[in-house]
Amino acid sequence: MEPIIKLEGINLYYDQGKPTEVWALRNVSLEINKGEYCAFFGPSGCGKTTVLYVLSGMESERVTSGKVLVNGRDIAQFSKRELAVFRQIGVGIVFQQFNLIPSISVLDNVSLPMAFLGISLERRRTEGMKLLERLNIAPYANRLPAELSGGQQQRVGIARALANNPPIIICDEPLGNLDSENANKVLEFMKELNVKDGRTIIMVTHEAWSLRDARKIFYMKDGVLLRVEEPKEQGDIAQAVSKLMYNQLNPNMEPGQVMAKSLSNLLLRGYSSDEVKRFEFFLLQRLTDHIDGDVFQEVLDRSYRRGGVGLWKGKAAKISFIIEGIMEQRHTVEQVYAMLEKNPESPLVEEAQKIRRWLLGEYRGKIDEQQQLRLDEIITERLRNIITAHNVAQVLNLSKKNFGIGLSMRASSQMSEKLESILAGSDAVTKAIKL
Ligand code: ADP
Ligand code: MG
Repeated sequence: MEPIIKLEGINLYYDQGKPTEVWALRNVSLEINKGEYCAFFGPSGCGKTTVLYVLSGMESERVTSGKVLVNGRDIAQFSKRELAVFRQIGVGIVFQQFNLIPSISVLDNVSLPMAFLGISLERRRTEGMKLLERLNIAPYANRLPAELSGGQQQRVGIARALANNPPIIICDEPLGNLDSENANKVLEFMKELNVKDGRTIIMVTHEAWSLRDARKIFYMKDGVLLRVEEPKEQGDIAQAVSKLMYNQLNPNMEPGQVMAKSLSNLLLRGYSSDEVKRFEFFLLQRLTDHIDGDVFQEVLDRSYRRGGVGLWKGKAAKISFIIEGIMEQRHTVEQVYAMLEKNPESPLVEEAQKIRRWLLGEYRGKIDEQQQLRLDEIITERLRNIITAHNVAQVLNLSKKNFGIGLSMRASSQMSEKLESILAGSDAVTKAIKL
């Protein structure tokens, strides 16, 4: 049987030819079969929403190369009418922001998509009420969206997505604005739509735990579809997700290399490349416990001619202090990944606090309680690989009013680099040394 949706070599640019050009999808090919529950997973900005728009036929104008096939037919060959029909009855989309129309009733929001199909008002209302009943929100039919709680509004959004009875339901981060109870309800309902109604579910999320029902996971990063996994059981999914978080922090380089590089950039700014190379060598030795802390400090101090790095004593002592701190925090990170491997939903409260205290070690500015909490959140999100190093620096720099930390640009990038220095896997460090 033909896949219900197939993408072949899709490339898509935003602002093509302008300085702000973004290559948002890079040669993406994939297949989704009828009745499958699949998910796209990856950090913010990796192209998840864009790929959804492409596969629901909403970005056909922007696709620069590649094909979108629906049931084996290229949508470029669709007539205008066929494309409109596919968009309106082929797929239903649930958005994170709910996207409800504020000025009309809940019932009218849900029935509106049927109007495009020329269904009479009366029938629209009857069908709409049925959907509201299915989602347990019938009593609110005549209210305005703003009069409902977030969880209820999201159910209106789901009812609306079901309005034209589409065989494919797409959810773009449907849980982002919900508490965990409501998030669970949404996931249960999606599972029901998949198992009972046989609908194809396409879930987009950056929260690993919400992948639990997906049987095909597309991992994305920087517009690239990195790989596809088809976990058979719950345990497989948990493992797949934590493995991903462990390895994906920087897929283009050996993690050990990344760490030694980012550390030597951090610590030896302004030194010659020979000194930096030798420093990286000893650093890897120390990070993999091939030499102990005292020896490390001694070779940092030893002159370059005698085989050392040739730093002055004070600098050697300082760097050695920093490295010992990093090694301790790397140990914390290893524990975190071991916990996440067992249970991707593990809370990381104490670990994040520990890392935060270390991060703030040499910071001279004042950090209030609210900033500390926010910092813990950012650290947790980075540990879970929900956000990138770049995002971390951005949020640190963002004002407190905008839910950032309000650090200077310079302090933000230094602190983000410091955090990165503890995130690479130690197995990989050992491997990098043997290479
Ligand atoms: P995700 O949903 O994974 O967060 P998106 O698909 O929204 O990612 O975005 C992918 C990339 O394309 C990002 O770098 C984003 O900034 C960029 N982008 C998304 N929409 C637009 C747009 N309308 N104009 C310009 N750039 C965009
Ligand atoms: Mg998105």
